[in-house]
Amino acid sequence: MRYAENIAELVGNTPLVRLNRVASSTRATVLAKIEYFNPGSSAKDRIAARIIEAAERDGLLRPGGTIVEPTSGNTGVGLALVAQQRGYRMVFVVPDKFAGEKVAVLKAYGAEVVMTPTSVPPEHPDSYYSVSDRLAREIPGAFKPNQFANAAGPRAHYETTGPEIWRDTAGSVTHFVAGVGTGGTITGTGRYLREVSGGAVTIVGADPEGSIYSGEIGRYLVEGVGEDFWPETFDPSVVDRYERVGDRESFAMTRRLAREEGLLVGGSSGMAVVAALRTARDLGPDDVVVVLLPDHGRGYLSKIYDDDWMRAHGFADLVVEPDHGIPDH
Ligand code: PMP
Repeated sequence: MRYAENIAELVGNTPLVRLNRVASSTRATVLAKIEYFNPGSSAKDRIAARIIEAAERDGLLRPGGTIVEPTSGNTGVGLALVAQQRGYRMVFVVPDKFAGEKVAVLKAYGAEVVMTPTSVPPEHPDSYYSVSDRLAREIPGAFKPNQFANAAGPRAHYETTGPEIWRDTAGSVTHFVAGVGTGGTITGTGRYLREVSGGAVTIVGADPEGSIYSGEIGRYLVEGVGEDFWPETFDPSVVDRYERVGDRESFAMTRRLAREEGLLVGGSSGMAVVAALRTARDLGPDDVVVVLLPDHGRGYLSKIYDDDWMRAHGFADLVVEPDHGIPDH
C-alpha cells in the first residue's frame, strides 16, 4: 500500500512543466514549477509546516496552543492545514478588503477569522497589525508565526524548493526566476541553487512596478509580491538582478497561461513568467530557465479572470470577446 499518513505530508515535490506557446519565441527551455500542486494550493504550505515544527521545537507552541497570524490568504491556508492535523486552534486576522472567497476558505478549514478595517493606519488599535498583536498577547498559549521575520520561511525553501529544482533538472538549471513578497522563496531557493552550482545559476527577482525592491514605491494590483518595506526574511544579496513588471503585462500573461498552457494560476505567476521570458530572450538552447508559479487561479476568479473587474480597472483591452459566430439579435 502506498499512502500518506496525513495531508501535510504531501507538501512539496511539485512538478516542473515546460512552457510551450507563451515561450515559443525563445530558444532556451523555460520550465514552470507549479506550486498549486501543494495540498493548500500554494507555495506557502512549505513554510507553514517548517514554521510550526520550529515553534514546537523551540517551545513556543505547545499542545492545545493557538496560532494567531495576520494573513489574508495563502499563508493562512498553509498554516490551517498543518495546524489542524496537530490539534491547534487558529485565529487569522484579515483586513476587510479581502472579505469574500479567501475568508470563506480559511473558515472552511476550521479557522476563526477576525475582520479588521483596512482604512486605518497600522498604529491604530483596530488595525490588522494591532489586533493580531493584542490577540497574541491575550490568548493563553498563543503563538504568532510572523512570516515576514520568521527564518523558518527561507529555510523551508532552502531545504525543499531548491533541492527539488536541482534534482528535477539534473543540475542543468541556469536561471531561477521568482517573485519577492516576504522574500522567503527567492532567498532560500536562490541561495541553495547558487551554492550547489558553484555560482553558475543566475537568480532573477520578478518585482511589480511600485515595489520597493526594484525602484520607486507606488500602487499596484498584483497580490502577494512586492513590498513597501524590507522584511527580515529577504536577503537581497541573493538576487543577481530584477525584472520590473507592470500590472498590465502581469495580468495579460496570467490570462494567457490559463488559455494557452492550461495553467490556472494567480497574478504573481503571470508576473514571474513575464520576467522569465525577458530573461530567456537573449539565451541559447543550452539554457534552462526555471520560474516558480506560487499559487492557483481559483482565488482570482472574481478579479483577473473576471471581465467586468478587468474593465473597471482599466484593462478592457485585455478582455477578449469570444466570437460565437451568432448575430446579436
Ligand atoms: N505570490 C503569492 C500569490 C504569494 O502569496 C506570495 C507570498 N507572499 C508570493 C508570491 C511571494 O513569496 P515569498 O513571500 O516567499 O517571497
